[in-house]
Amino acid sequence: MIKNGRTLQHAEGASHPIHPLPMQELQPRGARIRGNRRVDQTEAAERFIAAPQHQKMHDERLWDLRGKRDRQMHAMPEWEDLRALASAIKEHTLTHLDQYLEQFERNARANGVEVHWAKDGEEHNHIVHGILRDHGAKTLIKSKSMLTEECGFRAYMAGTGIEVIETDLGERIQQLDNEDPSHVVVPAVHKLRGDVAKVFAEHLGTNPEDDNVNHLAEAQREATRPLILNADAGMTGCNFAVAETGGITVCTNEGNADLSANVPRLHIASIGIEKVIPRLEHLAVFVRLLSRSALGSPITQYTSHIRGPRAGGEMHIVLVDNGRSARLSQDQFWTSLKCIRCGACMNTCPVYRRSGGLSYGATYSGPIGLIIDPSFNRHKYSALPFSSTLNGSCSNVCPVKINIHEQIAAWRQVMAKNHDLGVIKMVAMKAAGVLLAHPVSYRAAIAAADSALNNLPRFAIYNRLNSWGKHREVPHAPRESFHTWYKRHRSAP
Ligand code: SF4
Repeated sequence: MIKNGRTLQHAEGASHPIHPLPMQELQPRGARIRGNRRVDQTEAAERFIAAPQHQKMHDERLWDLRGKRDRQMHAMPEWEDLRALASAIKEHTLTHLDQYLEQFERNARANGVEVHWAKDGEEHNHIVHGILRDHGAKTLIKSKSMLTEECGFRAYMAGTGIEVIETDLGERIQQLDNEDPSHVVVPAVHKLRGDVAKVFAEHLGTNPEDDNVNHLAEAQREATRPLILNADAGMTGCNFAVAETGGITVCTNEGNADLSANVPRLHIASIGIEKVIPRLEHLAVFVRLLSRSALGSPITQYTSHIRGPRAGGEMHIVLVDNGRSARLSQDQFWTSLKCIRCGACMNTCPVYRRSGGLSYGATYSGPIGLIIDPSFNRHKYSALPFSSTLNGSCSNVCPVKINIHEQIAAWRQVMAKNHDLGVIKMVAMKAAGVLLAHPVSYRAAIAAADSALNNLPRFAIYNRLNSWGKHREVPHAPRESFHTWYKRHRSAP
């Protein structure tokens, strides 16, 4: 694509330029995590909103991805059929998961791969550490994997004396900055270029004033390439594991998974058990949907198929459950396992776009996080399902047709039933319940509130107790409620 005589790079192709304001503000940090205490997403979101350059860039960047996704979707008349097919394949696989996993294991072993099973994150970390230790590995290059984030893999490895080096640019930025990924596809999307320049200056010795993206990418390439070439072992995740062949498919835009899988002699692939699909031909459905939904590009730059170890090498696959079997048994939530981690629901979510992924204080943020995180720790993430407007946009864009907003609402009911709402919300909900159950009192209260909003002094409305008025004006109440208007018109001759 050419613009003003200049060839645009891949990511610039259909993007609107986004210019951060001059005099860059400090990067807001994520939610405060305190053991098992309930994560307060709104507190961290407020700090993100209070950083307007970050908030504006984040909102625009993700909305840009959503726009590109829409353009790709409209260019494919069969889009809805593909979504329905993808959903049906996933639902069929999940309801026959034991068979397909065993078939995958058999075929992977026949391909010369060693297969391990891990019931949770801890076991996964032990298994991988054991493999590395047995091979005397001191360095491990790793491509991006949300599963390993779930397992707390890097934190675990920090105490083993084996150095882990992330090879995805965004993930490496996050590793150097000691932060988790804030998005499943673009892990450092909440950072301005200047934030990255600062991180690289501190860790790679680059010029902190130079926030040119090409220079930053080149600095990362030069710093990481020797580490890749000399690594003892490589690790990847997996987008799809094909039962029929025992092969795995990894989709990236930087080719870093290929380096991790092929440069060192030892390759370990960590795979969530929900990643299995029955047949090779099913890949065509998912590969067409994945990158279009994620970044609005027709395909990822690299779609790599790995059947077995490289010549003279060794390959291990760790199949990880980590709560997935339990989720599969949950009537209302099992279809969340269809997720292919495209991030489209995050890009479209107005709450996520304005609050940043790290405000959720969990591995998964945005709408998909709201329905997955509570299944890991119901109490700790009990406030998250309330960080949604329930507008349904997430469900509309989901390429595997997960009813995300309905599951968010269902999680709210679970929290309410288990008294996991927090005191203020519990009291407010109880009062609202009483009011809504008595129409006469409800109408009287609405009329009183309308008049109060119109007549009370500002300090009585805009204070800490009214979160609606924290960042916006409360709208003027209409002179007449819809109920009164309707009654008047219905009874008119
Ligand atoms: S829930 Fe759907 S839209 Fe969201 S990341 Fe998963 S597959 Fe993508």
